[in-house]
Amino acid sequence: MGSVQIVTTILAAAITAVAVWLAVRAVLKMVAVIRLGQPAPERFSDKVARARTMLVETAGHTRMLKWGVVGAAHWFVMAGFVVLSLLVLEAYFEVVTTDGGLPIIGHWTIFGLVTEIIGVLGLVGILVLMAIRLRNRPTRPGGRSRFTGSTMWQGYFVEWIVLLVLIFGFVIRGFKVATDHFEFPFWATPVSHAVGAVLPDWADGVSVAAAIKIIISMTWLIVISLNVTMGVAWHRFLAFPNIFFKREPAKPAGSGLGALRPMTSQGKPLDFEEADPEKDQFGVAHVEQFSWKGLLDFSTCTECGRCQSQCPAWNTGKPLSPKLLVLSLRDHAYAKAPYLLAGGGKDLTGEEKATQAQLAHLDVLALAEADKPLIGTAEEGGVIDPDVLWSCTTCGACVEQCPVDIEHVDHIVDMRRYQVLIESSFPSEAGVMLRNLENKGNPWGAPQNTREDWTKGLDFEVPRVGEVDDFEYLFWVGCAGAFEDRAKKTTRAVATLLNEAGVKFAILGEGETCSGDPARRIGNEFVFQMLAQQNVETLNEAFEGREKAKRKIVATCPHCFNTLGNEYGQLGGEFEVVHHTQLLAHLVATGKLTPVQPVDGGVTYHDPCYLGRHNRVFAAPREVLGDAIAGDLTEMPRNSERSFCCGAGGARMWMEEKIGKRINVDRVEEAMATGARTVAVGCPFCSTMLSDGVNGKGAGEQVEVIDVATVLLRSVKPEQPQGGKETAPIGG
Ligand code: SF4
Ligand code: SF4
Repeated sequence: MGSVQIVTTILAAAITAVAVWLAVRAVLKMVAVIRLGQPAPERFSDKVARARTMLVETAGHTRMLKWGVVGAAHWFVMAGFVVLSLLVLEAYFEVVTTDGGLPIIGHWTIFGLVTEIIGVLGLVGILVLMAIRLRNRPTRPGGRSRFTGSTMWQGYFVEWIVLLVLIFGFVIRGFKVATDHFEFPFWATPVSHAVGAVLPDWADGVSVAAAIKIIISMTWLIVISLNVTMGVAWHRFLAFPNIFFKREPAKPAGSGLGALRPMTSQGKPLDFEEADPEKDQFGVAHVEQFSWKGLLDFSTCTECGRCQSQCPAWNTGKPLSPKLLVLSLRDHAYAKAPYLLAGGGKDLTGEEKATQAQLAHLDVLALAEADKPLIGTAEEGGVIDPDVLWSCTTCGACVEQCPVDIEHVDHIVDMRRYQVLIESSFPSEAGVMLRNLENKGNPWGAPQNTREDWTKGLDFEVPRVGEVDDFEYLFWVGCAGAFEDRAKKTTRAVATLLNEAGVKFAILGEGETCSGDPARRIGNEFVFQMLAQQNVETLNEAFEGREKAKRKIVATCPHCFNTLGNEYGQLGGEFEVVHHTQLLAHLVATGKLTPVQPVDGGVTYHDPCYLGRHNRVFAAPREVLGDAIAGDLTEMPRNSERSFCCGAGGARMWMEEKIGKRINVDRVEEAMATGARTVAVGCPFCSTMLSDGVNGKGAGEQVEVIDVATVLLRSVKPEQPQGGKETAPIGG
């Protein structure tokens, strides 16, 4: 070992020792913070599926690849990180001796070849990612981007480190080539040979370059260890457990979509018959009341902003960005952690748990952070502004896009639950809807005895459950379908088509009540449970004696479809629920319905969030339209998984939209830009929102918003008077 090697070895050993010590400290801190969360025992189920999904999503980059070039570039950088970590390890042999290398595999030509390829592609990948970050920097002329609000220096820092480590990998090899210590052939390592051709014949160059590479790598480790909230770096490690522990491991995308998590206290579902707010946790009032998986979610956020770029609230000028919400919760959790780890925290009656002595030596900043209300305005020092919390439509675009499977909607609804159930704090206009649900069983407060009014004027009898037993489908009409004039046309169209196809169906009529979706999404779990239990009882009675496969329900409202199909199971109601577009697509495909006159004038389709993203029903409505219209369906730029919300979900239908541009107007402008004269929808709320948007633009004469079922009915029965006879308005 020469004098150069003595220096490089000491340098490498010293910086590595410091970096490893800091990294161990950082990991312990992170684990301690995440463990502050509430138990989530269900996250340990089905470990095989979890492991499989984690491997597929990480190694296959299945989520990221939906982002095209950036996804591919990220894959190579990830592969580069994994494979080239071996080359960092090899550098420790190279600082000791100029011809050092990894034992055994370091001499295999295949190792030289693979690392060469990954090194080159990693270089290309990181340059692409750097260019994308620069091109989308929030400070560029032109304003906001998905990186707005991200900690930009951290992203640049990580990218430069990757770039330099890759470059020095080739420099080390180049010096080996130049000094004739390189054992891989030219065909396997052409870039290394090319670099070697321009480097001097300096034997110590190998050890010096290896030391620089180690110093760069360890500088990265030191910096991220001193910044435990640096998700852009830590996600390389945290993404694996975060994906492993996601809510529904079998779901390829949108694990946190569909059903909401039941309310839990101490990791157990809350039983509202016995729950006591002084003993049980009702929603989330403090950051430590999220589950540990919630805290892991916040720690894992890479600040990539894909969620933000798709969020309808953010895109229409509301203060909500799912990314910024997650970052606020993360920063708050880590800033409050010293207080919590010292034994601090409030019990469920609001009393401080720690003694004076426990808090005596605490940093004043941690104490100040502990005093912040989780939900509160800037003046109140709140972590999350109420306008942020209530802007969410629960559309799920954030969850769908998040490459590390963060479950934003669950976290938002958990915070809403506490605000509604304990603080009674929510947009006042939604109070009418909640009162109507409690007193009348529907959000509009329409009399229950008008639930069947939509059947008037039909030229066939609509059977009720109880009057007939041999129905195949129970037709769940939903409150909108029963009381809202536009939705009633859809209900009649579906009933007419089912009748035409010879499907045996029956309705509950006055036995039906609201599915509970708006109550649950606004956070009023109590009202949801009340309505849902009543419906589960009614439905179980209607299907008595039938196995699950024969307990079939067809629903026109995606919110009912989602709640009945995905959430009633939590209350003992197991049913086979289909959306009407799925059933209609089947009836057309099997020849039970025959479109005879194509609907022309151009048709576009708006994916309802609770049908599409939340339940992955993208194809069926398009199949129905494909059979019923003239020419091809004209897609909007934002469609299918990336469809843009209409603005009504998450109980936003019953809240005023006071901030920014109206979401429905944004969507309608996109629909109208396609030139289509018909905007087909599959949801009564979308229908209302988009119709209002079209009318607001003064385009009601040129553009029509109608359900997919109505389009099909026009094609199957062109002679049929569309929509049937108008009935009395809501509440009439
Ligand atoms: S669910 Fe939709 S509205 Fe809510 S934060 Fe996510 S993207 Fe935004
Ligand atoms: S998409 Fe996921 S990782 Fe990216 S900023 Fe949003 S929450 Fe963070």
